[in-house]
Amino acid sequence: MNLEAYLKIKKELGSKISLVAVSKGQPKEKILKLYDEGHRDFGENFLQELTDKKTQLPNDIRWHFLGNIQSNKLSKIVEYADIIHSISRYKIYEILVNHLPKISTSILLQLKLGSEKTKSGFSENEILDIVTKHDKKSKIKIKGIMVISENNIDSSKIKLQFQQAQELFEKTKTINKEIEILSMGMSGDYDEAISCNSNMIRLGRIIFGERK
Ligand SMILES: *Cc1c(COP(=O)(O)O)cnc(C)c1O
Repeated sequence: MNLEAYLKIKKELGSKISLVAVSKGQPKEKILKLYDEGHRDFGENFLQELTDKKTQLPNDIRWHFLGNIQSNKLSKIVEYADIIHSISRYKIYEILVNHLPKISTSILLQLKLGSEKTKSGFSENEILDIVTKHDKKSKIKIKGIMVISENNIDSSKIKLQFQQAQELFEKTKTINKEIEILSMGMSGDYDEAISCNSNMIRLGRIIFGERK
């Protein structure tokens, strides 16, 4: 746990950039340490871990779901998370709007950057298509875009890709006024993300240390 790093980064971010403390693989004690500093936004990748932590930790924590989503777990994820960053397939989006439309949920659409085959996410055109067609009266609210940079690329390439994400974010905002979140930047690349106008970074290891 590196409370000093947390406090330093919080100060750098100011009030315009949110920080999600990614607590996957970390014990509840560490979450409570940050909670005592006033931190309320935590990120998890696995449903079981999310449900365990949510039921045992203070109920004013806002839980961000960041992980891969299996369709059979979607309704539970919706129930336990306050916002889902990792909507990355049409199938999942369609279940949300067609089969779970009565539950209020905030979602981000995950943009796939570069050409890595293992990464999930939508193309730019797919995101524009979804945002354009999305029913604004739906209780499923599209609040923005989430991006994960490619592994093993250098800082200048990361920046180019983050700029691409930022441009897409600006376009989607003109289509849907509820779009306000650009979730971009992790422990290894949050400087690049901030320089490309990210307004929500997701930090795990740099705050909590290595996870189990
Ligand atoms: C694990 C994870 C993070 C945090 O990664 P760190 O490198 O530990 O900062 C951020 N975003 C997503 C989507 C993750 O899965």
